[in-house]
Amino acid sequence: MIRGRTRRLVALALTLVPLALLANSFRAAPLLAPAPLPDPLPPASPPADVALFQLPTGVTHRSAAFAYRGGSFRDARDFAMTAALVKHPRGDLLVDTGFGRDVDTHFQRMPFLFRAITSYEQGRSAAEQLDATGYDRTRLRGILLTHAHWDHVSGIPEFPGVPVLVNADERRFVDEGGWRTAIARIGPPRFDTYAFEGGAYLGFPRSHDVYGDGSIVVVPASGHTPGSVIVFVALANGHRYAFVGDLAWQREGITEREERPWLARTFADGDPDQVRENLVHMAAIATRFPELTLVPAHDARAFGALPTL
Ligand SMILES: [Zn+2]
Ligand SMILES: [Zn+2]
Repeated sequence: MIRGRTRRLVALALTLVPLALLANSFRAAPLLAPAPLPDPLPPASPPADVALFQLPTGVTHRSAAFAYRGGSFRDARDFAMTAALVKHPRGDLLVDTGFGRDVDTHFQRMPFLFRAITSYEQGRSAAEQLDATGYDRTRLRGILLTHAHWDHVSGIPEFPGVPVLVNADERRFVDEGGWRTAIARIGPPRFDTYAFEGGAYLGFPRSHDVYGDGSIVVVPASGHTPGSVIVFVALANGHRYAFVGDLAWQREGITEREERPWLARTFADGDPDQVRENLVHMAAIATRFPELTLVPAHDARAFGALPTL
């Protein structure tokens, strides 16, 4: 009798403890405040006609709780699937592509569990939007990836022949990432691998200045994927942007120093410790330079600051 009750209590504990731990992993738990950043904003001399546009290609339906610790389940957020077009006199760049025309087919290649918790709406693809405005595709020098996950590369096949710019770590991840990078291998695209030949930039140890004028500077910020990057864009009017990719899904991840909840980071992040480190560093940058616009890849509010084509 007593033994039976003990067994039931143990079974109950074995059920409740993991549930309590899971629930706790959604609670706010700000990462330690970073040391103040000594570096000034690096100089940039962008040509007068450098310009930035958003190309929204769809949304996934999520909640703030899914994006960062302390976010509410009742706070419904449509995650932006948005590409950015950087116009530059020496050749335009797309930062990611968002959803492509064939996103339904791409989605079917994702694991069952992911599909079970994901619903999305498809908009016009980046290529369709560019074509609709009569955009001259020969102006496009490349597609610069923040990283090679499906929702960032689904539009690549609609730009045949346009180089896809990645660093060596992400290039390797494309080949070796299994289902995580299956969509990035369709074609396959023409990859063009760049190096971080430049020096330190805002405390990141290395950098790649695409045109040598400070208008588009890429820094390594691995963790979410091995070759994840942050793309800093400077306009002639002085505005600065940081496209942080999926370092954080919503800007509170950085401004409140809240990482993804355990379930999300276990599923999405290759190296959560590195994500944490880069998140805290990016928080230091955001605190020091409040004029810098943070653009997490899936934060619709952040893209709201950019004009559409
Ligand atoms: Zn991602
Ligand atoms: Zn993403």
